Amino acid sequence: MMPHAPRLHKPPLLETLCEALQLAETAVSRYYAISPREWGTRFRYDVGSADDHPDLPFHPGALAQIAQLSPASGGFPARYRIVLKDDEILDLADSTGLVPLLTFTLAHELVHLVRFGSRRIPFDASEHAVLAEEEEVHRITLELLEPALGEDAQRVRHILAPDA
Ligand SMILES: [Zn+2]
Repeated sequence: MMPHAPRLHKPPLLETLCEALQLAETAVSRYYAISPREWGTRFRYDVGSADDHPDLPFHPGALAQIAQLSPASGGFPARYRIVLKDDEILDLADSTGLVPLLTFTLAHELVHLVRFGSRRIPFDASEHAVLAEEEEVHRITLELLEPALGEDAQRVRHILAPDA
């Protein structure tokens, strides 16, 4: 890692991250009829960098991954972190724009989070189940972001999944 490589969860990029998070949370909330405050109660998460999670396995080509910070216990839901591959995201953003790409990446992870949180799929699903889940989450993310991102969604979609 370069000593002064920009990180998305730190200034000056933090503002852009927040803008994208707002778009992603709003779109995912609308799709699942979640109240915005549930992001702080039922689906608790924060955002960090892959720098701080050197042992976290990423799927090939993935720009982000979810780490479980603590499991559900004593009536409290699990806590998660959306871990971003900053350098890959920033490289790719040259052709997609940073806000649309981040919105896509974050919305995808939020859909995972809602599905874990509502026990539609276990956090530690088998490899086979994980592949099917990825396809389903990708499909849902495209669907729920279309109204929010319009043409930007099309551009990101072609770059992230050229065969789709
Ligand atoms: Zn995924």
